[in-house]
Amino acid sequence: MPVSPVTPRPGAGARLGELIRLRTVSAWHSAPDRAGVAEAFAAFPGVLERLYPLLHRHLERETVNGTGLLFRWRGTSPLEPLVLMAHGDVVPAPESEDEWVGAGWGTDPFAGTEEDVAGAPAVRGRGALDDKGALVTVLEAVENLLTGGFTPSQDVWLVFGGDEEVGGRDAAAISDLLRERLRSLGTEPWLVLDEGGAVVPTPLSFVDATCAMIGLAEKGQAQLRLTASGAGGHASSPPAGSPIPRLARALRRVERRPFPPRMNGTTAAMLAALVPLASGAAGRALPWVTRSGAVAARALGALGGEASAMVRTTVAQTRLRAGTADNVLPSTASAVLDCRITPGQSVQDVLSEITRRVADPQVSLELIHGQDPSPESPADGERFAALGAAVGTSWPGAVPVPYLLMAATDSRHFHSWCRHVYRFAPLRMDQAQRASIHGENEWVSQDSLARGEHFHRALITSRSRA
Ligand SMILES: [Zn+2]
Repeated sequence: MPVSPVTPRPGAGARLGELIRLRTVSAWHSAPDRAGVAEAFAAFPGVLERLYPLLHRHLERETVNGTGLLFRWRGTSPLEPLVLMAHGDVVPAPESEDEWVGAGWGTDPFAGTEEDVAGAPAVRGRGALDDKGALVTVLEAVENLLTGGFTPSQDVWLVFGGDEEVGGRDAAAISDLLRERLRSLGTEPWLVLDEGGAVVPTPLSFVDATCAMIGLAEKGQAQLRLTASGAGGHASSPPAGSPIPRLARALRRVERRPFPPRMNGTTAAMLAALVPLASGAAGRALPWVTRSGAVAARALGALGGEASAMVRTTVAQTRLRAGTADNVLPSTASAVLDCRITPGQSVQDVLSEITRRVADPQVSLELIHGQDPSPESPADGERFAALGAAVGTSWPGAVPVPYLLMAATDSRHFHSWCRHVYRFAPLRMDQAQRASIHGENEWVSQDSLARGEHFHRALITSRSRA
């Protein structure tokens, strides 16, 4: 299929601004005191249709689970399709001026204004990066390719969840649907791409380069409740071993024995990619350190913070609950632990390890929610190379680097049946911008939107040239 050269349609920033003005805050979707939110969700598909008319003329659209959208772009073959994911819902942001000024937003988070940020044209607002900006880059690429008369060689499916921030049931339902359909054809996605990593300048202090951090895997999660029980009674004659000190002792034991650092394939692949980019003393040490997985794991573990979280299951003590009055001994005391699990360990492993650390039969342990870590998608082979080539076209100079995602994405519903799931949004995010996700002053540069569109266009057309 001949492809006409594409001149991207101007106005991507304005279209993103319009989507930001739709308050698709999933945490508020059914809250009775949040006027207009349910209406914003209802209006979302119609606004997409007006902004992307060719896409809606050529692709088949289905609504799944209420707010999930599934588009099929028929290619020459339905086998080994490309699956591009994003989500249209956002986390809350302040709505009144007092609140948003107080919280550090320079402007209304739902205004979606086009303005200069750090001296360059940008779009500001909740969702500019997470994940309406990434959503727009996919939509723009498809619209522009259709303008040029392009038909993909394999089907392209677009998967847009509307509840990623509150559990991702849309993506789960779409995953089930797609699995059945592709299974009946005897095929699975060639590649699934969702949010996750980004184009990051200086991803680690000793790396003086811009890297495209491509997520091969995401950590699992186990939320556990520890409960200590006792007799309760009057606080004037306390017995030994009452629930609060017993629970405190258990928490201290957990705190004192962190999970040991252990290398995983994804972090090892990341370090291997960073060796040629590292500078200074760390740059000289890195080739030696990375010769042994155990040594490298210990070195990262000693750095603390995010570096340490790449090689160990982390345990955060997040909630405490005990007592009803100042002068009454409680009969129970409980705490919640939020554990993030590295590849190579399971929810069950974490349960047994925590039980061993607590070592007290009078402290019970209950699993509130558990999700094993994802499998690790390969960093070699044609899929990662295709992602790297699309990065090379759209972000010249950025080095593709494999990466372990700390958070969960909608793509976790696909990795049980798809072998090639990657997590990368082709948008530049410096450290302050990464902190703005779920925080304040979220913005994306217009340059990023243009390069992101280019990335998706390059990825979609790459297989047709082969
Ligand atoms: Zn997101």
